[in-house]
Amino acid sequence: MSQTHFFPEGTLVAVLTCEPIDRSLDYKAPAGGCEVGAFVEVPLGPRKVLGCVWGAGKGGFDLSKARSVSNVLDVAPMRDEMRLFLEKVADYTLTPRAAMLRLATRAPGLMNPPSMQKVYRRGAGRPTRETEARTRVLGVLEEYGGLSFTLKELADAAGVTPSVIKGLVPQGVIFEEDTPRDLPYGRLDPAQAGKELSGAQDAAARALRGAVAAQAYSTTLLKGVTGSGKTEVYLEAVAECLAQGRQALVLLPEIALTAEFLTRVEERFGAKPAEWHSGVTMTERRRVWKMVGAGGAQMVIGARSALYLPFQNLGLIVVDEEHDQSYKQEDGVLYSARDMAVLRATFCSATVVLASATPSLESWANVEAGKYTRLDLESRFGPAVMPDMHALDLRSEKLPATRFVSDALARAVTKRIGLGEQSLLFLNRRGYAPVTICRACGHQIACDHCDARMVEHRFLKRLVCHQCGETKPMPEACPSCQVEGRLAPVGPGVERLAEEVTERFPDAKVSVLSSDLFGSARALKAAIRDIAEGDTDIVIGTQLVAKGHNFPNLTLVGVIDADLGLQGSDLRAAERTFQLMRQVAGRAGRSEKKGVALLQTYQPEHPVIRAIIAGDEEGFWRAEAAERKMAGVPPYGRMAGIILSGPDLAQVMDIGNALARRAGPLHQVGAQLFGPAPAPIARVRGRHRIRLLIKAEKTAPIQRAVSAWVGQVKLPGSVRLQIDIDPQSFW
Ligand SMILES: [Zn+2]
Ligand SMILES: [Zn+2]
Repeated sequence: MSQTHFFPEGTLVAVLTCEPIDRSLDYKAPAGGCEVGAFVEVPLGPRKVLGCVWGAGKGGFDLSKARSVSNVLDVAPMRDEMRLFLEKVADYTLTPRAAMLRLATRAPGLMNPPSMQKVYRRGAGRPTRETEARTRVLGVLEEYGGLSFTLKELADAAGVTPSVIKGLVPQGVIFEEDTPRDLPYGRLDPAQAGKELSGAQDAAARALRGAVAAQAYSTTLLKGVTGSGKTEVYLEAVAECLAQGRQALVLLPEIALTAEFLTRVEERFGAKPAEWHSGVTMTERRRVWKMVGAGGAQMVIGARSALYLPFQNLGLIVVDEEHDQSYKQEDGVLYSARDMAVLRATFCSATVVLASATPSLESWANVEAGKYTRLDLESRFGPAVMPDMHALDLRSEKLPATRFVSDALARAVTKRIGLGEQSLLFLNRRGYAPVTICRACGHQIACDHCDARMVEHRFLKRLVCHQCGETKPMPEACPSCQVEGRLAPVGPGVERLAEEVTERFPDAKVSVLSSDLFGSARALKAAIRDIAEGDTDIVIGTQLVAKGHNFPNLTLVGVIDADLGLQGSDLRAAERTFQLMRQVAGRAGRSEKKGVALLQTYQPEHPVIRAIIAGDEEGFWRAEAAERKMAGVPPYGRMAGIILSGPDLAQVMDIGNALARRAGPLHQVGAQLFGPAPAPIARVRGRHRIRLLIKAEKTAPIQRAVSAWVGQVKLPGSVRLQIDIDPQSFW
């Protein structure tokens, strides 16, 4: 940017605040002036609010009325590249800039003065009176030569009460000092030796190191199954980035995977990186935010919002499991962290590594189009990494309605138990049964607030709505016909499957891995470790098991319902089923033992099921790409989803129709409009939902058209309009 970067006292500056006002406000620069990008505290009505200096003020009003910036915060100013990035994301996702600034300042207490704490270190001389406790304190301090301790750390280490330490301060034997509470993270040493890499891994690592060393934007798709050493390879890219003195960001899709990953980073670089996700305390969040800005954090492991941290010199972004749906933020600012990572990298000449065993069609297509480089890692166990896959045709099995494991699958499980090996039964459905039906009147128990059926969770002894989280106890009598004792579960969830398995394999040790059965990430981790160590014969799991955990003794995967993901109208249904089935099947036979995957299905001739069984990945992608190209849908066309919601169905529908009648701005850019129609989930939390769908060519300026289009209709306060550019889910 060639504009002014410093504003002397009294000049007008435009300040963007985090408040819901969609424009910047003019203030006078404070005493000492301020820079563009400075984080400031400004008066707004009676309050003081957080803001960022966005540029020169517009003026055009009586300058004597302008208020002054109250305070410039003692944190690194926002860099130009970050401001441009936020503006670009705002324009792309049609999000107000203030909401973007909120995303970029999501750490508490940024306006407070730096928080201090007292620390203690060795002073001079000996205590006036030597006691055993005092000697122990000095012993600890001497042992750690010169290091400072907090009062609690020192008291704990010496096994004394804090008063013993305090008593030594007036004598000068111990120094008490104030230091900032937000301390830098331990230094990561990129020169430390990494794990030994195989030939293919080494070649990939060299390619990535070269990309990082170039200090220019590039994106590489790193494709490799879990056993292929993908993490070791991209950690070499991190090493190169750190060696260049730049910062690295690794995005992970699941908090449960972070702990394991932190350990690997510590082994590789000798210290732990900073962590940024919903499980991190508020104090720690503030520390991460400040240290990333002050250069006291070389590497961050985080969830998608880590993209908006104030990196000063970001050189590498790794998006691990890049195909994972959780990278799409589904409320608030609707953005895809994978796509925004690529955008962010273009502003700061950084390298992007998209890692996956089962890449998204978007990334596959970007490789085909020459936009991304592709690196393939074979498994270190050779080509035998995918297990033998077979379909079990349920049409010929004649299972009773209360059983879900076919005899063929049961025989395979029995065989594994005999060999002392593990089996995984996969069912992507939490709870006991997805539907509870009244055998007297046919009524199905639904959520009172949503257009969704309640799922029975026997473990919790409740019915749960998976849309809104509402729960209620299982009633004795049917809520519709009041007949007692006729409510029956229909279909399986993992809890019901566990019941059947325990009955059919009474001597087997069974573990159920489902996110709602564990109180904490730690409990879940412990369960995963127990399974990996072989303390289980049969694992029953939801999607949770598909994500990266390594069970070396697992040689059989049974998919209870391979057809589940193919239902519904989602354009990515085939892609997701293909990815999920491959990930789950890939759990079998990670070590020397070759695995088998058996897929129970009612439609073994379905092209997706056939592609999964044949293991022809490239063939699947080419066929899927051709279909999407024909249909003009992503990644070969653009889409935007509009959801209108409100308490009154007729009112919401009227607005939807009014929008449809004024589709001129959309037609001008060649876009088509579909709807309004009730959304697939037509009511959530008591609000009726109507959706409209826009389809356009890939190059159409869809955002401008959509803004102009929705701007024509005034919304009543009770109606909410949500725009989702590049929607990932269609509910
Ligand atoms: Zn009934
Ligand atoms: Zn609900």
